Amino acid sequence: MERRPFNRNAKKKTKDSKTFKKPRTGSSGTGFFRKKACKFCAEKVNAVDYKDVARLQKFITERGKITPSRLSGLCATHQRILATAIKRARHIALLPYTARY
Ligand SMILES: [Zn+2]
Repeated sequence: MERRPFNRNAKKKTKDSKTFKKPRTGSSGTGFFRKKACKFCAEKVNAVDYKDVARLQKFITERGKITPSRLSGLCATHQRILATAIKRARHIALLPYTARY
């Protein structure tokens, strides 16, 4: 008894290649997206102190930019509060506007 996996070639049609879907494994890395819980919501923070540099520094890049909410994982409300606090902190020179050279 000899059975060869033959049907692969026999079925080859141009129609199939059109309907064939690529599996979405790719650019985003992990296949699925899970919503991050907002840190400040978890702590029930209502206002971020602009003098609290240690906290603010976790949300700026090394070049001094504010991390976008998709990276920081904050909700819109807290991202806004944080951004305001960082801007205030910059104004009184607690945080840099840009990286120092
Ligand atoms: Zn939040």
